[in-house]
Amino acid sequence: MKTAILGGGLSGLTLARLLHEEGEEVVVLEAEEEIGGLCRSKTDRSFTFDTGGSHIIFSNDPEVLGFMREMIGENEQRNTRNTKIFYKNRYVKYPFENGLSDLPDDDRFFCINEFVKNLIAEKKGETSAPENFREWIYDTFGKGIAECYMVPYNEKIWKYPTDRMSLHWVDGRIPRPPVEDVIKSAIGIPTEGYTHQALFSYPLDGGIEALVRAIARPVLPFIRTGFRVTSVKKSGTVWHIGNGRETIEADRCICTMPVQHLLPCIPDVPREVQAACDALQYNSLACINIGIRGAVPDISWMYVPDPSLGRTNRLSFPSGFSRNAAPEGCSSILAEITHHAGDEVSRMTDEELIREVTAMLEMMGIIKPDQLVFSSVIRQPFAYVVYDLAYCKNIVPVKKFCSGYGIPLVGRFAEFEYLNMDGCIRSVMDFIKKSPLEDQG
Ligand SMILES: Cc1cc2nc3c(=O)[nH]c(=O)nc-3n(C[C@H](O)[C@H](O)[C@H](O)COP(=O)(O)OP(=O)(O)OC[C@H]3O[C@@H](n4cnc5c(N)ncnc54)[C@H](O)[C@@H]3O)c2cc1C
Repeated sequence: MKTAILGGGLSGLTLARLLHEEGEEVVVLEAEEEIGGLCRSKTDRSFTFDTGGSHIIFSNDPEVLGFMREMIGENEQRNTRNTKIFYKNRYVKYPFENGLSDLPDDDRFFCINEFVKNLIAEKKGETSAPENFREWIYDTFGKGIAECYMVPYNEKIWKYPTDRMSLHWVDGRIPRPPVEDVIKSAIGIPTEGYTHQALFSYPLDGGIEALVRAIARPVLPFIRTGFRVTSVKKSGTVWHIGNGRETIEADRCICTMPVQHLLPCIPDVPREVQAACDALQYNSLACINIGIRGAVPDISWMYVPDPSLGRTNRLSFPSGFSRNAAPEGCSSILAEITHHAGDEVSRMTDEELIREVTAMLEMMGIIKPDQLVFSSVIRQPFAYVVYDLAYCKNIVPVKKFCSGYGIPLVGRFAEFEYLNMDGCIRSVMDFIKKSPLEDQG
């Protein structure tokens, strides 16, 4: 049994490794010259940056976390999260609802008062069930936290109106804060939210790509890079997978590349399935990498909800994740700007993006102009799945079609789900458990 895996990102490589360990013949077909997909990293002049935005290793899934930490082995730096939100020129502890005591008095009163008013209204049965993400935010956090942070930040990262986003994905991903924690946080008693990230790991050398390289090690001979899949057909029991120049044959075919890239490879996709796939929403990412002489604040990463500070939605400080991520005496900052293909950000030159980000960092007091020693920009077409209101209506026919065609979908943009690395690895593990070889092909 030979399995062809379309896409050599984290999902494809984990799938290849685990199938190989079960004795199966595999071939991974990856379009780019390098493996890793969103989990790639680049080292230039001794600065290492993740090219798919800043990545850390964390999970509340012990099996998956154990797997990731085992893979990087000794090449690990353990870190304690110190994350902030940049709000009205001050650092507010993250998550926002755990950092209310850092707010100016008026905003702290607004947030706690609205949170409590909302709870009372709920108890009296005066609220109605939320129907979209924006309503869910107001319902969960109250008007104060919603308007000071949750709505502006979410609209900045998704680049999509929150009242046109679905809420089916938020449960478990954005936890409801316990009342006690919100009250404690408002009066200055420390509390922690999102505790599964409170400790995180990062490779000492090689950036997050070190994780996928370690996973890929036993299957390197079976990876074809520079193989951009353009056709996928089945005749009888044999799959024929081509790149326009050559065709690979396999007994089964699993897709980990975006469904938007898979459908054009398949002949005679029904028009309504193609239309549903075209309507799926996602956003792209520009990573602006900055290296400076000197130190940066001791912060893991920082959210920037304020639109007046520019387009950056998040800053991270990779030189804090690993002491080897920047040269001696230097530090690094990665600014992330999500956007949509064809929009203003896509048309901005790298120099314009660097200028905007460095001006913002100077305004925030994080860097001074004479400290800058390195800058670069890396762009990713697929960054985040956006759960718009039509998501469920559109994803169902796409998945049904692929399943009917005999191609399982595994991974972030193949399943078209907001999966972090741990979610992708869990998906691979579950796929292998529930799909014994004899069921495939
Ligand atoms: C800004 C950002 C920050 C993140 N931070 C974290 C974090 O801190 N922690 C965490 O756990 N997760 C994080 N993630 C999520 C993580 O990046 C993903 O879960 C993971 O990388 C997805 O892996 P994948 O293999 O499913 O998809 P991808 O990495 O997208 O891989 C798909 C592969 O398919 C290839 N491909 C595409 N078209 C073709 C074709 N026609 N033929 C052949 N190959 C093709 C691509 O080149 C790519 O290599 C973050 C994501 C983003 C965007």
